[in-house]
Amino acid sequence: RQAQYRRLRNKPSVTRDGVEFSLQMNAGLLVDLPHLAESGAAGVGLFRTELQFMVASSFPRMREQQAQYTQVLDAADGKPVTFRSLDIGGDKVLPYLRSIQEENPAMGWRALRLGLDRPGLLRTQIRALLHAAAGRELKLMFPMVSEVREFLQAKELVDKELKHLRRHGHGTPDTIRLGVMIEVPSLLFQLEELMSYVDFVSVGSNDLFQFFCAVDRGNTRVADRFDTLSVGFLRALKSIADAANKAHVPVTLCGELAGRPLEAMALIGLGYRDLSMSPASLGPVKAMLRTLDAGRLSARLLPRLEPGHGDSNIRDVLKRFA
Ligand code: PEP
Ligand code: MG
Repeated sequence: RQAQYRRLRNKPSVTRDGVEFSLQMNAGLLVDLPHLAESGAAGVGLFRTELQFMVASSFPRMREQQAQYTQVLDAADGKPVTFRSLDIGGDKVLPYLRSIQEENPAMGWRALRLGLDRPGLLRTQIRALLHAAAGRELKLMFPMVSEVREFLQAKELVDKELKHLRRHGHGTPDTIRLGVMIEVPSLLFQLEELMSYVDFVSVGSNDLFQFFCAVDRGNTRVADRFDTLSVGFLRALKSIADAANKAHVPVTLCGELAGRPLEAMALIGLGYRDLSMSPASLGPVKAMLRTLDAGRLSARLLPRLEPGHGDSNIRDVLKRFA
């Protein structure tokens, strides 16, 4: 199997009926980067910057952050890297950050919320990223956005830092693309506005599912209670792909769903063409999609999401198709 996946490494990610895909990998530390060449991933679709903060014993300084981002971009060697701004809080704790007692940390003071309330922290990270990407492309997305306004506030911080760097004669990135992680259900009802502002979106299906079904992703009592291939959740995922495709906004899905072949198949049927997953999943997902007829799959899957078929067992439908 491993050898078979290795042989696929340099083969194109294209279905039997000629639909092209971009399969990227998720990463969080510099040691993950060699997987980029080994797995044949098209880029890093999600770089979780909080990992550097979680393994440190105190807040990494601007220069340390910059050094890490520079090394990541160097190691990617021209392949695109999508950085995600700090996603701390919730299940990701920093030992040196005074922890505040929260009843519901997953829904508490975390990620971009914390970043906007403590702009010094976020601005330092943004500055480090702008320095590191000077003369190349910077792709940056923000986690746990609930309202379009939060993205605009974050974008303003990026603009401020850019001005600052220019004023001081520093180099800046050639292009900057700013995006939003769609992982809070409230965004599902702001898709049109959101798409008009962002350069790209990425679906964080781990959190989106957690909040969609009100099921704690880390609580084993309930985590497996609901199916990620349920009609309701698939409709939600489809509405995102539809809105993005309609607005010509690139959309990636970077949650764990993308790395499981049957689930990835569902995503393909819904219209997703860009998936980011753990490096080990790339082989199995690529093997699946290269034998797939994407057109026939959509024709089989999409009617099942129409009203009147709402009780379909999609998992079975997909298994039979595979
Ligand atoms: C997600 O929520 O789906 C995601 C990709 O981010 P994380 O797992 O780091 O919360
Ligand atoms: Mg998340």
